[in-house]
Amino acid sequence: MFRIGFGNDIHKLISGKLLILGGVKIPADKGAVGHSDADALTHAITDAILGALALGDIGSHFSDKDARWKDTDSFVFLKHTVELMKEKGFRVINVDSTINLEKPKLRPFIDTMRENLAKVLEIEINCVSIKAKTGEGLDAIGEERAIKAEAVVLLDNS
Ligand SMILES: [Zn+2]
Repeated sequence: MFRIGFGNDIHKLISGKLLILGGVKIPADKGAVGHSDADALTHAITDAILGALALGDIGSHFSDKDARWKDTDSFVFLKHTVELMKEKGFRVINVDSTINLEKPKLRPFIDTMRENLAKVLEIEINCVSIKAKTGEGLDAIGEERAIKAEAVVLLDNS
């Protein structure tokens, strides 16, 4: 049986914070605000897997009210979710995602993000797609006030 899942995530950007995406520290003027390390891409992919399995969302598994998760590496959430998925007998077929960020350009970092995610998802790097788009100067993304990520995953239990 195939299951499809969708996830999205948005974080506010401010100066003096780290910008982490797909486990990669991106050199940037502004970083993302969040309870954990605010890795929007990893959160969106985690939510997509939970969604495919109808297991709720990242907030129901890792509450932002829980002090345990303060400044946590978001790969902890993704790894836990992959374990839940495997317990249910599923594996990831592929992931497609888009990051919306005005700057900096993410191209130099994309392959390292894909590599990091492929390892945790236990799939080949060519099954992990990460696209990057700017906000064309419009809205919170374009005005450099936010970073957003969206992801879809396909799971299989055969
Ligand atoms: Zn998030």
